[in-house]
Amino acid sequence: MGRPPQRTDQMSDLPTTCARCDSTGTIRVLTTSPVPGAWTMYACSTCTYSWRSTEAAYVSDPATYPAAFKVDPAAIAEMPVVPTVPPRRA
Ligand SMILES: [Zn+2]
Repeated sequence: MGRPPQRTDQMSDLPTTCARCDSTGTIRVLTTSPVPGAWTMYACSTCTYSWRSTEAAYVSDPATYPAAFKVDPAAIAEMPVVPTVPPRRA
């Protein structure tokens, strides 16, 4: 499904836009493969979404990421904590 895996071994290949929340400039390298150059794992500091460079385009491309799973960065602060943290006992 989608484009073939892309090698993203260089920092210059750092994605600019998060596929899930559409934030720009918030992506960092989370880790790299034990075998150099096999894959790079990225993470978004806004929504904590993470993905591997070798995954299908619908995982990493904002234009083809499933709309039902998109996240609005403005809504993150209002998201409930599940399970609810109970009140402290006296
Ligand atoms: Zn994000």
